[in-house]
Amino acid sequence: MHTASDRTAAVICDNWQRVSAEVAQACHAAGREPDQVQVVGVTKYVGSELAWQLYQAGCHILAENRPQSLWEKADYFAQQMLAEQDDAASGAKDSSLQQHAKHPLRWHLIGHLQRNKLKRTLPIIDLLHSLDSLRLTEAINTEAASRALPCRVLLEVNVTQDSSKTGMSIEQVRGLLELAKDLPGIEVCGLMAMSSLDANADHARREFERVRELRDQLQGEFTGQATLTELSMGMSGDFREAIAAGATLVRIGSSLWQGIL
Ligand SMILES: *Cc1c(COP(=O)(O)O)cnc(C)c1O
Repeated sequence: MHTASDRTAAVICDNWQRVSAEVAQACHAAGREPDQVQVVGVTKYVGSELAWQLYQAGCHILAENRPQSLWEKADYFAQQMLAEQDDAASGAKDSSLQQHAKHPLRWHLIGHLQRNKLKRTLPIIDLLHSLDSLRLTEAINTEAASRALPCRVLLEVNVTQDSSKTGMSIEQVRGLLELAKDLPGIEVCGLMAMSSLDANADHARREFERVRELRDQLQGEFTGQATLTELSMGMSGDFREAIAAGATLVRIGSSLWQGIL
């Protein structure tokens, strides 16, 4: 007999495979290799149990937009992993552990990070997509100074200067890079952007292309001082346009939870 949770797990598995295939197809259409684009599974719509099922289905980069939800899920995942280790020690479920060892879990934060939440958030995340101010940059640097590795970040840019969108102006991004290149606790890895809410596919693609051009230009200006390889752009509705424009990370939420929400 199948339980509701078996069915849910099967739906999530199907969704993950469909999204992975669509992303691979978008890469082929753009003349890019599928391994140049990673899917970041956005779990903000669901609780920890369903997020864990997505991870089990094979999505190893997960993202939240609120620090508190990130903490809650990260705690839950740590407990699940301990339970798996116990199972493995008693001879059960070995293969899923080996699978996780090959593709370790990574948490990303894609929403605003308040300075009073830094201490608890930095040890959990592999990448912050949404660095958007000098004050936050300095606070992260101070906090990260006591840690072995710098905090990896993307600079969130608003290339259209659209006031309904978050993100920094191009000049602010350039100023932030100028500052961050000398800070040992910060490693700027690229840019993050969202398309305008009302953008159609052509419009979204042009916006994403402007972000890529900005990245190329900044990479030229900061040669030897920063390595801006990552471009986080594209969500469920516009990842094809983002991939065509050069995205390396697509942040997919709703498509992964179809039939669940
Ligand atoms: C929610 C969210 C996403 C995912 O959007 P979907 O349209 O559900 O795929 C991507 N990026 C950010 C910053 C988000 O907050």
